[in-house]
Amino acid sequence: MTNKILVTGGAGYIGSHTCIALHEIGYDIVVYDNLSNSSREAINRTSTLIGQPIEFIKGDIRDAELLRQVFASHQFFGVIHFAGLKAVGESVAKPLMYYNNNVSGTITLLEIMAEYDVKNLIFSSSATVYGDPENLPIDETSKRSCTNPYGQSKLAVEHILEDLAVSDTSWSLITLRYFNPVGAHPSGQIGEDPNDIPNNLMPYISQVAVGKLDKLNIFGNDYPTIDGTGVRDFIHVIDLAQGHVAALNYLEKQTVPNESGVAKQNSIGFLPINLGTGKGTSVLELVSAFSDISGQTVPYQFTNRRDGDIASCYASADTALTLLGWEARLSITDMCRDVWRWQRLNPNGYKKDL
Ligand code: NAD
Ligand code: UDP
Repeated sequence: MTNKILVTGGAGYIGSHTCIALHEIGYDIVVYDNLSNSSREAINRTSTLIGQPIEFIKGDIRDAELLRQVFASHQFFGVIHFAGLKAVGESVAKPLMYYNNNVSGTITLLEIMAEYDVKNLIFSSSATVYGDPENLPIDETSKRSCTNPYGQSKLAVEHILEDLAVSDTSWSLITLRYFNPVGAHPSGQIGEDPNDIPNNLMPYISQVAVGKLDKLNIFGNDYPTIDGTGVRDFIHVIDLAQGHVAALNYLEKQTVPNESGVAKQNSIGFLPINLGTGKGTSVLELVSAFSDISGQTVPYQFTNRRDGDIASCYASADTALTLLGWEARLSITDMCRDVWRWQRLNPNGYKKDL
């Protein structure tokens, strides 16, 4: 059986960390990315951390012809599909771009996978598909609903994968629903590199701490939470990367010899799994942890709630433990320490000359 994996979006934040984790346990990887939200520098640094050049193809998941060439020249065990646009605000302004990239792009990828009989997929979904949850912690059977085009695009892909699994039982389609990925590689060489002013909390805090931004706006202090600020399930990107390794191992374990001793894979259909820690941390708790680790004050002010935000969101991580044998190991302290190291060593992210 081949151990080669196609990693779409592998130059991005979560993809680059996952490439390292995959290489560490002996997978061959081919990264396919159009670099629309990443850089060659990320590929170079990931290659250095791995200790050998990564096989990289600059391409778009909507480019069927190029994908065909890639599948024709490699024999893949499966695809880890990170490629996608992820900015909620931008998705509201440019919904067609988001549906085209995230939904049409995934359909094209699936069509080419089917042509080449590669039926193992690990898809990057998000806790955003749960909308405003009725119950906490959120398990995989919770109702799904989204309020913005980014979330809708993830939900649409989930529905497509469900229908695909029904139509053809030879597919194995693991859908990993990430909670709030933060953190960076402990080397400080790769990490999250937002364009412009960050939308997400952790990169915003770290840019305030390093002095690039004046102060943090905390969106609301009147939520029904421990201190009135929003509560989220922050998960270290290193743990998240290991979650993908565990999902691949799970797929490989479904491969058993048939009566003639030939390896045959039992497909698992559509399988959604939360990747979170199961613990909620408030905005103020995160600010305080980051200040302690960095030794910097993080000035903040309370402002109005952000449209579309919910009070609390944290995972039930039981399915990942039961099925994949995976659970998050790293703490909020680890997350802050690694983000701070990445921020200090790379105040301008991958862009050197600012
Ligand atoms: P990222 O932007 O750093 O990485 C995505 C990568 O996909 C980028 O390198 C980008 O250049 C590439 N890409 C985008 N469109 C492409 C296309 N059409 N063809 C080829 N490559 C394309 O984002 P990330 O944080 O690493 O997220 C990875 C995946 O996880 C995304 O699908 C995202 O929606 C999902 N996700 C992320 C988060 C998060 O908070 N970071 C949370 C939940 C889900
Ligand atoms: N948040 C904040 N200020 C910011 C960015 C985020 O107070 O500049 C809050 C936000 O309201 C939410 C939490 O931090 O309660 C996490 O927000 P983020 O955008 O990182 O993740 P998401 O909302 O997608 O879970």
